[in-house]
Amino acid sequence: MSVAITGIKTNKVSQSRIQQLDHNNIQFGKLYSDHMLVAHYENGKWAAPEIVPFANMNLSPATTFFHYGQAIFEGVKAYKDPNGNPLIFRPQDNWKRMNRSAVRMAMPEVSEALFVEGMKELIALDKDWIPTADGTSLYIRPFMMATDEFIGVKPAEKFTFMIITSPAGPYYAKPVKIFVQDDYVRAFPGGIGFTKAAGNYGASMYPTMKIKEMGYDQILWTDGFEHKYVQEIGTMNVFFVIDGKAITPNTSDTILAGVSRDSVIILLREKGITVEERPLSIDEIVAAWKNGKLTEAFGTGTAASVAPIAELTYKENHIILPPVEEWKLTNWLKQELGDIRYGRKPDTHGWINKA
Ligand SMILES: *Cc1c(COP(=O)(O)O)cnc(C)c1O
Repeated sequence: MSVAITGIKTNKVSQSRIQQLDHNNIQFGKLYSDHMLVAHYENGKWAAPEIVPFANMNLSPATTFFHYGQAIFEGVKAYKDPNGNPLIFRPQDNWKRMNRSAVRMAMPEVSEALFVEGMKELIALDKDWIPTADGTSLYIRPFMMATDEFIGVKPAEKFTFMIITSPAGPYYAKPVKIFVQDDYVRAFPGGIGFTKAAGNYGASMYPTMKIKEMGYDQILWTDGFEHKYVQEIGTMNVFFVIDGKAITPNTSDTILAGVSRDSVIILLREKGITVEERPLSIDEIVAAWKNGKLTEAFGTGTAASVAPIAELTYKENHIILPPVEEWKLTNWLKQELGDIRYGRKPDTHGWINKA
């Protein structure tokens, strides 16, 4: 197969580091592929991107994003199909979301050519870095930061957009233990909860550290006004199966519109399952559990795909779900989404992009 050429200036490594990739022991986020894509924004426009060897950057200590956090990112994955061809899952949706984040953070939007075509070219070049074992992938991290060398507080005028990639090992979705947070807040109406802005994650570190010390894996955030309506989990959207229906909080300016969330909703509806996108209170979840109507609960995200929830703690309620092996929808979704992502099933939704 020939490599897609969109004419990005490419400076290839003289010596690949691919032998550093141990397929039997992939440590996500420790090893990055040979190349990265870089584009600079200045004087109101993006200069032509370049693909260059992955390397450290040289930045002034006065670079604005260090100080004021104008920084956003995305998360996408590439997989290999049974014939070894690289496939990228729904990058156009990440492109659109990156631009929604950019607008809210007073940053420039990027073109589809830069984001999607640039990504495809990078993945085609570094396709040997996509692991092939089931459950593995190449994680793709597009991101943008403000790069003015100026410590005055004002929206920046210079920005850098980059894409780096890192092999990701099989994700053993050990069912997670969830702490329902009714103290700290992740997002508030009018804020930046709907964006993948770096600061959202910085702010979540302390509450997450606290619940990990207590033996939980993740926080289920509740709304900031009443701590009554569930929102999402760490870096995942959340679904509860109650009375045979899948219920997930409707997206709003406090909830990130996950690409996995959208894919799961579409697949469930095609299977004839009712999906409700609406405010869902923690009291409704507790009541459904007490009545035996809460049968499954899971998070969705690019990193974990579909992650079953083993238990939830809310105040004095310890909600323990039935054994995951018995869950019909969650297990079916994991399989179905995997089959589509790895090209084992025909893509009937236009989700798969060949690199
Ligand atoms: C990235 C992310 C998700 C999941 O989004 P996907 O597009 O499915 O990967 C959900 N919530 C938050 C807060 C996130 O950052």
